[in-house]
Formats: sequence, C-alpha cells, structure tokens
Amino acid sequence: MARYTGAVCRQCRREGQKLFLKGERCYSDKCGLVRRSYAPGQHGQGRKKNSEYGLQLREKQKARRFYGVLEGQFRKYFEMAERKQGVTGENLLRILESRIDNVVYRCGFASSRKEGRQLVRHGHFTVNGKKVNIPSYLLKAGDVIAIAGASKNSDKIKAVVEANSAKPVPKWLDVDRQNLQATVAELPNREDIDLEVEEHLIVELYSK
Ligand code: SF4
Repeated sequence: MARYTGAVCRQCRREGQKLFLKGERCYSDKCGLVRRSYAPGQHGQGRKKNSEYGLQLREKQKARRFYGVLEGQFRKYFEMAERKQGVTGENLLRILESRIDNVVYRCGFASSRKEGRQLVRHGHFTVNGKKVNIPSYLLKAGDVIAIAGASKNSDKIKAVVEANSAKPVPKWLDVDRQNLQATVAELPNREDIDLEVEEHLIVELYSK
C-alpha cells in the first residue's frame, strides 16, 4: 500500500503544529518544528495567503497526517461519518481515534502511531482474543485489545511498553499494564481528543 515516504517532520512544519509522528523525539529539543518553526520549501518563510479553500485544505491535511491516513481512506472515513447520526466532524474524529494503530499508541503500547501500525501489522495484538494485523481495524466500545501471547515475552515489546509507561492515557481507555491489555470503555467525545483541528472546515471542504 502506498505510504508517505518524505521527511516526516516536514509534515508538522507544513501544518505549523506538532503532529507527534516520531515518538520521543517529538518531546525533545530535537523536534524539527522547534528547530525550524516555519513551513518547508523555498517560500516557507514568506507571507502566507490563506483563502477559504486553503484553510479547509490545511485542516484536512493536518487531521490526515496526524493519524497517518492516505487521502482515499480519509475520504471513506468522511463518508462513514456522514452516514452516522450526530455531528459529522466529530464522528470523523471518533472513527479515526478508534483505529487500532491509534488505540495502541494511546494506550502506551507504542511510541507513535507509526510504530503502533507496524506492531499491529506484525501480529503483536489481539482483539477479544483473536489476532488482528490490520492497522485500520476499527474498535468498538467494549473491545479488549491485548498484546498477543508470544509477543508478551518479546524484549522489543517490553522495552516499548516500559518506555511509554508514564504516558497519560485518555479516559475512554482502560489500560491494564500488568496484563498488557486495554478495554475500550467507550468511544471518545470531542473533548477527549487532543487534536487541535477545526473539523467543521473539513466537512465544508468535502461538502463542496
Ligand atoms: Fe513533528 Fe515529532 Fe518531527 Fe517534531 S519531532 S516536527 S512533533 S514529527
């Protein structure tokens, strides 16, 4: 499957906001945005012109990059969000949050969503006792994700879990570090999602 293969920090610099794509580095002085807090490219330090379309596009790109989702899939999530009851923008963020690679990261079982994606793809997680190796798998309230039996003894997994043990966990997830598992207590409300994005602009963009 196609993936973004360019410089990772460039994406944060383009959005002018930390998207936390690189694990520990994002919290240090080595963060690309801390070092160069302007947009990438030849005109990155020039005056910005923000049209209505430009603002909507930036918000969509920010959310898409934050969750590491490609355009086609992001659009599908938007269509799913539209079909659900409630506010479309909030539904969209809730769907993105419920991806298993995001939940693995939120639980502190990975340092970044990218690492979460890789660990899921390598078969290190189960959902309700069954192995799941699809990073886009969407979890529901009540689902239990766990580090798969043999993976619990992997030095790599132990090191990742240990390194992230102090990370705050959102209240919609119930993490049991002892048994290396977590329950989705409920799907998150908008106020539980720490992404600084104006999701109504994404809805406006796709509704044209
Ligand atoms: Fe973004 Fe992390 Fe790179 Fe900083 S270190 S620019 S937060 S990916």
